Amino acid sequence: MRNRKILIPFFISILLISLLYFHYERHRVKSVGDVRLMLGTVVEITVLGEDEEELLRAVNAAFDRMAEIEAVADRYTGDSEISRMNRTAADGPVFVSDDMIEMLLMAGALSERTEGAFDITIAQLLDLWGFTNEPRLPAPEEIEALLSSVCHSCVVVDDENMTVYYDAPDLSVDLGGIAKGYAVDEAVKVLKSLSVTSAVINAGGDMAVVGKKGDVPWRIGIQHPRDSQELIAVLDIADRSVVTSGDYERFFFTDGVRYHHIIDPRTGYPAGMTMSVTVVTDNTAVADALATAYFVMGPEKALETARRADGIDILVVDSDGNLTHTDGLSSILTLMR
Ligand code: ADP
Ligand code: MG
Repeated sequence: MRNRKILIPFFISILLISLLYFHYERHRVKSVGDVRLMLGTVVEITVLGEDEEELLRAVNAAFDRMAEIEAVADRYTGDSEISRMNRTAADGPVFVSDDMIEMLLMAGALSERTEGAFDITIAQLLDLWGFTNEPRLPAPEEIEALLSSVCHSCVVVDDENMTVYYDAPDLSVDLGGIAKGYAVDEAVKVLKSLSVTSAVINAGGDMAVVGKKGDVPWRIGIQHPRDSQELIAVLDIADRSVVTSGDYERFFFTDGVRYHHIIDPRTGYPAGMTMSVTVVTDNTAVADALATAYFVMGPEKALETARRADGIDILVVDSDGNLTHTDGLSSILTLMR
């Protein structure tokens, strides 16, 4: 009898504690993430939420969507859509996917907007420099000979009939300056459609954050262009894209000169006045292309252009290592040196 008096409250307390624990555990915010090699870089997705299984499903679905875009835009596999288009679009209109139409229309508009600093028709120049396989310094005549093949307005996109036609015999297109950003935006759409409200996607420096990290903004570090272990700045952001283009991603040295993969379409040579440009705005594809274009323009013109644009902020490191940024970043930027 006495025993029972003691035991009943005891078991009730255990039951209550267990219920509380399971309730807490179910609603505790968990972080689920994965890293994959795609789009020629390391892609990392992290999502926060309560249901681990749902989060994992969302992460996998986002990666699947990015893999679809890779199959469209990767010029280094022969059976990708872009490879097929580059082989045949000069002979007559070819049918392409929604994703291709979307990227080409954005790329065309961004070429106009940047007065040709961004131009996807530099593909042959990129091949000449060989940044993805065997980099080498081309002879000036080789570069000169290819300059006339650069022509963004020669890419004729018919979005009603879903076709593309190259209105020039030697045209070739490279989507390396916009595809990663586009893929990140598509991954964000997938995550949101699966009810994710807090996430970070990083595709080798092309980043988007969804929501906040709990109650606080996400903290995004900006890499030092000459020391991969060091940050030059940290940004506190929510629901934004942050994309950095730098001369340190793909480069080689010849006679002490650094040659890198961001090409000035007007000269055919790597653009020389900048070390890195970070663009902060609300669309990752636009940020991706603008980071490349601002890099080509050089710090002064880049800052002037960004200041005139709506909803675009930038942080530039010039070739002497000096750092400048637009006013919009003042309240969310912490400089690390
Ligand atoms: P990363 O690929 O390192 O993130 P960027 O976003 O700046 O760097 O893109 C560089 C890539 O964009 C190059 O590898 C090339 O494929 C392409 N590219 C280089 N110069 C230009 C340019 N002026 N306009 C458009 N695309 C470019
Ligand atoms: Mg870019």
